[in-house]
Amino acid sequence: MSAEFETSLRGPQAYDLARRAIAAMEKHKVWPTALNFELWSHYVAAQDSPLAAEINLLIEAGEPFTESVGEKLAERFLPKARLSGEILEAGDALTKELDSVSRAIESARSSSEEYGQQLASASESLAGEDTGKIKAMVETLTQATQRVRQENATLESQLADTTAEVSRLREHLEQTRLDAMTDGLTSLANRKAFDEALERACATAEETGEALSLALIDIDHFKLFNDTWGHQTGDQVLRYVASVIGRAGASPRTAARYGGEEFALIFPGEAAKSALAVLEEIRCEVASRVLKRRSTSEDLGAVTISAGLAERRADEAPAGLIERADAALYASKRGGRNRTSAADPIAAAA
Ligand code: GH3
Ligand code: MG
Ligand code: MG
Repeated sequence: MSAEFETSLRGPQAYDLARRAIAAMEKHKVWPTALNFELWSHYVAAQDSPLAAEINLLIEAGEPFTESVGEKLAERFLPKARLSGEILEAGDALTKELDSVSRAIESARSSSEEYGQQLASASESLAGEDTGKIKAMVETLTQATQRVRQENATLESQLADTTAEVSRLREHLEQTRLDAMTDGLTSLANRKAFDEALERACATAEETGEALSLALIDIDHFKLFNDTWGHQTGDQVLRYVASVIGRAGASPRTAARYGGEEFALIFPGEAAKSALAVLEEIRCEVASRVLKRRSTSEDLGAVTISAGLAERRADEAPAGLIERADAALYASKRGGRNRTSAADPIAAAA
């Protein structure tokens, strides 16, 4: 992102820039998605940029601005990781900008109204006097005032439209941000969200000296389950196990789908003992439920899970913590599955 564009996103022109981006998108029949808004904001802000040149080529060629076209452009021209946060910040800046413009217009409107009233009463008190010239002048002024008032009303309604557009856009951006952090199949946090949450949790633990535990959970013999009952039924089991883990993973914990049939639970502020108790509850709940195939009510038996837990050591980075939790998970598998193990120095439970 060019420094110039960054300034204009936050500066006094932010409101104008957003409107121009939306107008350009509307003109070229581009859906107002978060990504498109980002691209077209660049487009209107920096007409001589390589991105703008590429968009101009597409416009000339009459190419529809599809989702995949937008994604390819973003891949080539936009800085990636900063996208959603920056746009949201820009949205905040826009909202503030709009509020102050709105206040300015309101005060202009009421002062012009007052002015109009003063003129009208002056005109009245002059009536009957032999002051034709003055009266004509006052009438001219009154008409001018009315025009100003009308213009203000138009401005106000434009502002209301733009405010509504911006707030729709912000909602859409927030949803996009959530989608980007959520696993589509299970609705748990996805790997990216997990990585960020663990990074944050480790930093906090380092800062405060509080405990932090991490669990990795893996479904036992899941390949066999898929081979026996089919992938779709396998997906239903994944969702079921995720729902049990998710219930235990309310904030400040984080429940995530770590990979295919592997899950993770982050326990900020919790030592191994309390995290182990939670894991055992999850493990027992999953193992005790006899699953039925939805379509046919066929009995599928029970699935089991294995878990590995590690409590963070002082100075330990996320990668080290994950490695030890994974080693504990491996110990559970080796020990016969359907069990929970803790990494050293805490002894295995159950
Ligand atoms: P173990 O007890 O050692 O964990 O055995 P396993 O069979 O669970 O382990 P393995 O890693 O060999 O197999 C994992 C299986 O998980 C393979 C793959 O078919 C299945 N799997 C991964 N992701 C998905 C998914 O999204 N849906 C379904 N249905 N299956 C998945
Ligand atoms: Mg696995
Ligand atoms: Mg497995």
